[in-house]
Amino acid sequence: MIRVEHLSVSYGAVKALQDVSLEATPGLITAVLGANGAGKTTLLRTISGLVAPQSGNILLGDTSLLRTPAENIARMGVAHVPEGRGVIEELTVEENLRLGALASKVNMSEGLEAQYAQFPVLGDRRKMHCATLSGGERQMLAMARALISQPRVLLLDEPSLGLAPLVTAELMKSIRQLCESKNLTVILVEQNAKSALRIAHNAVVLHLGSVVASGDAKTVADDEDLRRYYLGLVEQ
Ligand code: ATP
Repeated sequence: MIRVEHLSVSYGAVKALQDVSLEATPGLITAVLGANGAGKTTLLRTISGLVAPQSGNILLGDTSLLRTPAENIARMGVAHVPEGRGVIEELTVEENLRLGALASKVNMSEGLEAQYAQFPVLGDRRKMHCATLSGGERQMLAMARALISQPRVLLLDEPSLGLAPLVTAELMKSIRQLCESKNLTVILVEQNAKSALRIAHNAVVLHLGSVVASGDAKTVADDEDLRRYYLGLVEQ
């Protein structure tokens, strides 16, 4: 479980997060929603140790992650798939996956086979350069590269970005299946509230760095004011 408690983060004078609290639980997807600049990426970067908070705490189980270097947080089982996916274009699918496994104790060939079983299209394309992959395939590769180290927590930043609606729907289904079958704690950051709320169990809505609503995904999805003013789901 990940517990974020009263987290505040600033970049100089810019307050990116203010007193943000949330909980994410194994086997459940917690969607973090909000418009551009709401603080979603900052939240994930702070959890994975890339940004230091001004105040507040982040707990993985009972262990505080404050002042823990990002590489140690990754070794503790927190995997971060950044916006834009972060796959290396010049490398093949398999080389990217090998990089993902380097810092972990996982058996390389077993790890690769597990990911090819989970994402058969990556197995078919294992020798191909990433530059030849479609957007959906790249996102699968980015997730497989994170999953190969067998994390407990998966942080996904805007996985639907730039994908066609049908590809997004397939991807979201596979995120839900992964979360439930591996009992993963998933934090899913999305501007695409509609797609995220279809698969999330819980949701947190951020606006200008603060939590404006949180609860089970259905309650958030059904709230007319949230839909209209914060999630962009109703024409104004
Ligand atoms: P987006 O979807 O556009 O990435 P977001 O919800 O992920 O939005 P953040 O990227 O976390 O939001 O940004 C939150 C606030 O912090 C914004 O006002 C943004 O301009 C600012 N910000 C983000 N990164 C930096 C940085 N490295 N230096 C200064 N300000 C930053």
